Amino acid sequence: MIVVMKRGATEEMVRRMARRVEELGLKAHVIVGTDRTVIAAIGKKPEGAQEMLASCEEVEKVVPIMAPYKVASLETKPEPTVVRARELAIGGGHVGVIAGPCSVESEEQIMLTARSVKEAGARGLRGGAFKPRTSPYSFQGMKEDGLKLLAAAGNATGLAVVTEVMTPHHVELVARYADVLQIGARNMQNYHLLQAVGEVDKPVLLKRGPSATMDEFLLAAEYVLDQGNKNVILCERGIRTFETHTRFTLPLATVPYLRERTHLPIVVDPSHGTGIASLVPPMCLAAIACGCDGLIVEVHPDPTHAASDGDQSVTPAVFSKIMSECRKVAEALGRPIE
Ligand code: PEP
Ligand code: MN
Repeated sequence: MIVVMKRGATEEMVRRMARRVEELGLKAHVIVGTDRTVIAAIGKKPEGAQEMLASCEEVEKVVPIMAPYKVASLETKPEPTVVRARELAIGGGHVGVIAGPCSVESEEQIMLTARSVKEAGARGLRGGAFKPRTSPYSFQGMKEDGLKLLAAAGNATGLAVVTEVMTPHHVELVARYADVLQIGARNMQNYHLLQAVGEVDKPVLLKRGPSATMDEFLLAAEYVLDQGNKNVILCERGIRTFETHTRFTLPLATVPYLRERTHLPIVVDPSHGTGIASLVPPMCLAAIACGCDGLIVEVHPDPTHAASDGDQSVTPAVFSKIMSECRKVAEALGRPIE
């Protein structure tokens, strides 16, 4: 349930009420809005708890949260969440673009890509150092050496580094170098990993599992939020369907659907969503047109020789064109790309 505090409730009143919620055996998430503060009280509520809390003087009302995801729900927090990392801002009218190679391969490759995507207007640099590959014989990533190269490229350009963490054992290591922790599609329901990144003070980019429903996706985000990390970005990256001509099927209706249910920002990954470089530019435009808060795009200086996902990677020149076209669409809709 949501305990809505009266307008003007002091911090001390909020703290006291949060304590009272916890004394009832519930978890208290304090959410400070521009208008008023609410406390999401999560857990199995004891008999009479709602009435008891509602009768407190500093409480305006107590209402049940209908959605299965509680902290992620718009019911709990009607104001959009803005996730920031270095110069990247995503959500609440801020449209931010993250770009870079599928995998970090060398200093030259990551520096060149970082400089060119920055020049084109990206605010985040993606690149995998730990790669989840279908085959154990495929390139697995440069690991910590790759993280070091990413951090150097981030420092040289000011771009926020977005990179995947695959296991709870690596969270501390990856968080030392990254600005945003990416949870890959294959790990969307790795609950221990979600809880581990939930304990870290770095934003999380959570990719939708290729067979996950919207509720499963939002409940995965809830695992992170429940640990206290409020900075979660949701990423639609395509789902598995009967269609085999594209690598995955990219359902853009996800964007407005999630918008009606959550305050978390929503980004789209047209690279994995299609698997085909020529389809990436139009799907970037479509994603911006349907109201996403950002894009994550695979860019490689030499896609044909990429260590992973070359078929879906665009060149820096194509990326630059994508950015200028996306800007026109975004501006026409009154949500300019920063
Ligand atoms: C990636 O971003 O390179 C990646 C592996 O993505 P996903 O987890 O969506 O497959
Ligand atoms: Mn990839």
